[in-house]
Amino acid sequence: MLGVHEFSIAEALAAQVQRHAPAAGRVREVEISVGALRGLEPEALRMSWEAVTHGTAIAGSILNVDLRPWSIACSTCGRTWTSPVPFVACACGDPAPVPTAGDELNLVSLTIDEEEA
Ligand SMILES: [Zn+2]
Repeated sequence: MLGVHEFSIAEALAAQVQRHAPAAGRVREVEISVGALRGLEPEALRMSWEAVTHGTAIAGSILNVDLRPWSIACSTCGRTWTSPVPFVACACGDPAPVPTAGDELNLVSLTIDEEEA
């Protein structure tokens, strides 16, 4: 099951990658950085990527998703740390420290295979 959200993001990304990709050469890997606040499922994003790039010049390229963690701040003891999940208790006993995260979605890098002459 593909998420509609992931699908539309994959579509926009594919358009962006195709604008950046050189005419000669084949896009092998695409790396993106995604803020946890986006709430994206990396696996769903990769499946959507396969679907939207199918039959295009960038078909077969691999999407690497670097999911940025949540930043947790405890107002009781002042500790801050990062976590893959937003709702965690603090070691000091505070049951609900405040989670914050970025909502960025950046194209980090493209790996291009030079075309064989
Ligand atoms: Zn604490």
